[in-house]
Amino acid sequence: MRPEHTSSISEQLVERSLKAVWHPCTQMKHHERFPLIALSHGKGSWLYDHDGQRYLDAVSSWWVNLFGHSNSYINEALKEQLNHLEHAMLAGFTHKPVIELSERLSALTSHQLGHTFYASDGASAIEIALKMSFHYWRNLGQPEKKEFVCLKNSYHGETLGALAVTDVALFKDAYGPLIGQSHIVASPDARNAVNGQTPQDVATLALKDLEKTLQIHQGKIAALIIEPLVQCATGMAMYDPSYLVGARQLCDQYQVHLIADEIAVGCGRTGTFFAVEQAGSSGIWPDFLALSKGISGGYLPLSLVMTTDKIYQAFYDDDVTKGFLHSHSYTGNPLACTAALATLDIFANDHVIEKNKILSQSISESFTWAKNDSRIEHFRQTGMILAFDVKEDVCSKTFAKEFFKEALAQEVLVRPIGRTIYIMPPYTLSADELNILSKGIENALQLVLSKKV
Ligand SMILES: *Cc1c(COP(=O)(O)O)cnc(C)c1O
Repeated sequence: MRPEHTSSISEQLVERSLKAVWHPCTQMKHHERFPLIALSHGKGSWLYDHDGQRYLDAVSSWWVNLFGHSNSYINEALKEQLNHLEHAMLAGFTHKPVIELSERLSALTSHQLGHTFYASDGASAIEIALKMSFHYWRNLGQPEKKEFVCLKNSYHGETLGALAVTDVALFKDAYGPLIGQSHIVASPDARNAVNGQTPQDVATLALKDLEKTLQIHQGKIAALIIEPLVQCATGMAMYDPSYLVGARQLCDQYQVHLIADEIAVGCGRTGTFFAVEQAGSSGIWPDFLALSKGISGGYLPLSLVMTTDKIYQAFYDDDVTKGFLHSHSYTGNPLACTAALATLDIFANDHVIEKNKILSQSISESFTWAKNDSRIEHFRQTGMILAFDVKEDVCSKTFAKEFFKEALAQEVLVRPIGRTIYIMPPYTLSADELNILSKGIENALQLVLSKKV
């Protein structure tokens, strides 16, 4: 033990942080037992603390980082933009980065979603999509369409509006009296299969449940919100793409908007740039598509909602109250848009979607040990997300935290969700790093499970 007066820089920073910084999604008292790490810098897949310890960022720092920390291409783009314009209000003014980003995103949807509205974080993008959907129906003379439908175990952010379409008791129950009500329908989570059902069977059953709700509440529902292909925050629940095709059809049939929350699954995470591209043979397009997290390469807070010309036109009027009444101070921030443009450059120049097909195959192969481990169930993968569940009877209540701590000791940053271990690494992960990652998780699991008697 060090005497107090010679505590390391790391220790000093941790102490100051615990005094002055209120950390997110954290019971601060738990830091009496679990580590807080003061980072000094990041490079590529690695984060470094002040003691020279390194951690492989296997969760892309809460799923935002796509091309590594301190990426030289994005760094240069930002430095160049700093010489021109750091920020200006987007009401009454515009600038090249926001125009170019909107045009390039539109092109990525074959111009199906040609109008983009900006905010700074994911939850705000969800607020925007919900408000826009309601306001669209109001502008059309149908203000009674004001209810929303979401999936069981959905997560769409933690502001009050986003919580209304989120089905996570931990985040929701405490604030129940403040939150609006939504209709929660069955999740197509392939793990729900019983008696030899296929993932497609599970999706078909979930669509039946959706149709029932749309039928009962006909004329009252504004939108259905889903996370395409993977429900990430509640444990990487993966499902059959036929659900997306069916949901699109039902939304059309019952005159309900489809909101695709691609905040986590967008930007190539599932194997295509947008997850909805994997629906059916040619994909589907939602009425609203929300992006955040990866869109700025993990550099700056940026979120956006893309929508159709049909919806845009319903707001286009001489009457100011028919316009979309929403704004954030940092809307369309030029630096954030520049980081996003550099991110899109890397996708195009480095053929990232193609290369990720090979990388995701290597990821699958390097976790062969997990496929064969009898303590593990529901091994699954969608593109650059790999997940498996540790069986309930072998892990303790504090498994997630114990595993996090043990993995850090193996130089790997992974944060299990309950008993689901998952990785969502940067797309720049090397073969050596993948090896360290897989071995680190295997060792940490061994250590944690052997502790529990
Ligand atoms: C992270 C996330 C959000 C919320 O984004 P924040 O930037 O954390 O507010 C919303 N939806 C999904 C699917 C997410 O993963």
